[in-house]
Amino acid sequence: MKSSVIGYPRIGNLRELKFATEKYFRKEISADELEKEAKKIRIYNFELQKANGIDFIPSNDFSFYDNVLDTAFLLNAVPERYTQLGLDTLDTYFVAARGYQGEKGDVKALAMKKWYNTNYHYIVAEIDDATQIKLAGTKPFDLYKEALDADVPTKPTVIGAYTFLKLAVYKGKKQAADFIEQTAAAYSELLQKFGALGAQWVQFEEPSLVKDMTADDIALFVSLYSKILSAKGSTKVLLQTYFGDVRDCYEQLVSLDFDGIGLDFTEGKKSIELVKANGFPKGKVLFAGVVNGKNIWRNNFEMTANIISELKKYADDIVIGTSCSLLHVPCTLDNETKLGEEYKKHFAFAQEKLGELEQLKEILGTDGYEQSPAFVSNKALHSEKRAGTNDEVRAKISALGNDDFVRLPAFSEREKIQKERFSLPLFPTTTIGSFPQTSDVKSARKAHRTGELSDSDYESFIKQKIAQCVALQEDIGLDVLVHGEYERNDMVEYFGECLDGCLFTEKAWVQSYGTRCVKPPVIWGDISRAKPMTVKWSIYAQSLTDKLLKGMLTGPVTILNWSFPREDISLKESALQIALAIREEVLDLEANGIKIIQVDEAALREKLPLRKADWKEDYLDWAIPAFRFVHSGVKPQTQIHTHMCYSEFADIITYIDDMDADVITFEASRSDLTILDVLKQNHFRTQVGPGVYDIHSPRVPSKDEIKTAIGKMTQRIPAQKLWINPDCGLKTRGMQETVPSLKNLVDAAREARNENS
Ligand code: GLN
Ligand code: ZN
Repeated sequence: MKSSVIGYPRIGNLRELKFATEKYFRKEISADELEKEAKKIRIYNFELQKANGIDFIPSNDFSFYDNVLDTAFLLNAVPERYTQLGLDTLDTYFVAARGYQGEKGDVKALAMKKWYNTNYHYIVAEIDDATQIKLAGTKPFDLYKEALDADVPTKPTVIGAYTFLKLAVYKGKKQAADFIEQTAAAYSELLQKFGALGAQWVQFEEPSLVKDMTADDIALFVSLYSKILSAKGSTKVLLQTYFGDVRDCYEQLVSLDFDGIGLDFTEGKKSIELVKANGFPKGKVLFAGVVNGKNIWRNNFEMTANIISELKKYADDIVIGTSCSLLHVPCTLDNETKLGEEYKKHFAFAQEKLGELEQLKEILGTDGYEQSPAFVSNKALHSEKRAGTNDEVRAKISALGNDDFVRLPAFSEREKIQKERFSLPLFPTTTIGSFPQTSDVKSARKAHRTGELSDSDYESFIKQKIAQCVALQEDIGLDVLVHGEYERNDMVEYFGECLDGCLFTEKAWVQSYGTRCVKPPVIWGDISRAKPMTVKWSIYAQSLTDKLLKGMLTGPVTILNWSFPREDISLKESALQIALAIREEVLDLEANGIKIIQVDEAALREKLPLRKADWKEDYLDWAIPAFRFVHSGVKPQTQIHTHMCYSEFADIITYIDDMDADVITFEASRSDLTILDVLKQNHFRTQVGPGVYDIHSPRVPSKDEIKTAIGKMTQRIPAQKLWINPDCGLKTRGMQETVPSLKNLVDAAREARNENS
């Protein structure tokens, strides 16, 4: 039995890559110094995997920002607006990822989207009619050679041709099918080059195959790979899928000339069934994804052994591996000094998963493995009853009836009541919640954590920041203010730390996008609200101003989706437990005079099943009610906002309306404004604040740019329903760009207001 890893986290155990990259952005280190740091991480990862006996170690899983963007550069699919700035390749790459504003020009970044059903974000490649796809870069070869020089033969990995073309946006007339020849030629050349370098295997990652596929999609897939594989030389090709099963194209997949096929037996509901029903071709290697690359619980060896013994009936050569790249889990448990052994023994982060693969390899390769100590102790661990049951919470949840999910009176009635109560101007301006987490905020939090700053000193510091933030917003002239979220490290982690039933880690970072990482809480037991979580900060902020101040919470679906969820109870059950806790906080804020409360569901869409057939039953049927339960108890005059970090909800638009919020803000600036047409067509009744500028980029939008965005919005949405706001929280931004951006936003809204009244 051999083992394979699809990809390994590249941020470094202590986020070294993030810090180095940010230093490079600030021009504190050179490109060479950045590259040196990156190389250290890569070599460390190679050696770690080698030490754990991994047989198929990936290379080119490393990225300075994102693998899809890497692939666009590899394939020459880089829009001219970036290349013509005349920067070197690395800087052009970063500009495409982040935008640029300086003496050379002013360009926006490429769009960024969620990577399937994860909290990782990829950069969307842009293809236009002039794009010439060809092999243009050398990164996969360089990194392969680098590993080889370190005495680690690797399996280079590249985003596959199908997935690359499916994820790209097409700006001209040409579509994916028009690029088949060019793309296939580029990948063929890539295979030949790897052949010349002596690579045994190349891995093509094709997660798009687990999505619903049309006949055209299947034709595209087959056409691409018939061509690519016809030029195959000595290098073997592993077609690696993940995040689900390949039910739409299994037949084609197994009949194409791949040497290995990677299937996901963790998330792929039908993977086993497909193999059983259709068999698996002789002479090919089945890469079985059995170690969960998305969650942090120890592998259940007994279940894995059962899957493998089932598969052995159909496939004669099986390699065990991770279900997807380990990018989605933290690096190592080694740096968790505060978490007790009673918890840690249940966890496996990336490094520990390597150990699991080594143990599994051993176990599965031995007859009578049931007696082996590793197997026996793993079985004992999984039969242990975990502490953390809260009977009171369970009773409350099981007593819920239909009324608990309905807010009264109906939307339009509330809208009238609230309009009268608030008398806000046309195009009210607001922000999404957080203000820049400047270095003083981060160092105060750190000092508090290490005990250098007392609780009371920390509290006064946060209050001082809140006061400055409120004053700043009054000065800028925003209509609905926020407290700035300075007390929060992260919108989910903060609540995780406040809620009973969650565990939190010290260094368990996971990359979200580029240099941004998150530290997801672990849902360990039943969830309950131990104490008020945000109330004192909101009360304090409101006490400083006569303007309206928005309370700011994270919603249950997002908390769940951005945590490592339990696997011993259903997601629905966990979501309702969290909803109950957030509901208590909502009612507490309301009772304390907060008139507007925003409940962020930034990640609502994230865990939407990849296949449409599963949407309702597996997800929306409990996710939307969980949100409704959070606010169904508030008074009609309390205004509930929600926020989503994307605008891709055309297909679930009726569900979004059905969340029954009063106002929703979402991302719109980075994607085109087509969502507005969809809102119009569907008679979307919720008031909307489509973000007027992109906060993921440091560039400052001009007043005119924002006015143009407002203009486009008013063509499609009744002016009375529109809010004007940035597209997300400002915490990752600096003050130097935030203040002028918000000033421009307020000026633009004022002008639009005058022109429209
Ligand atoms: N209220 C949060 C903030 O402003 C929302 C962040 C998000 O949507 N990711 O930071
Ligand atoms: Zn957001």
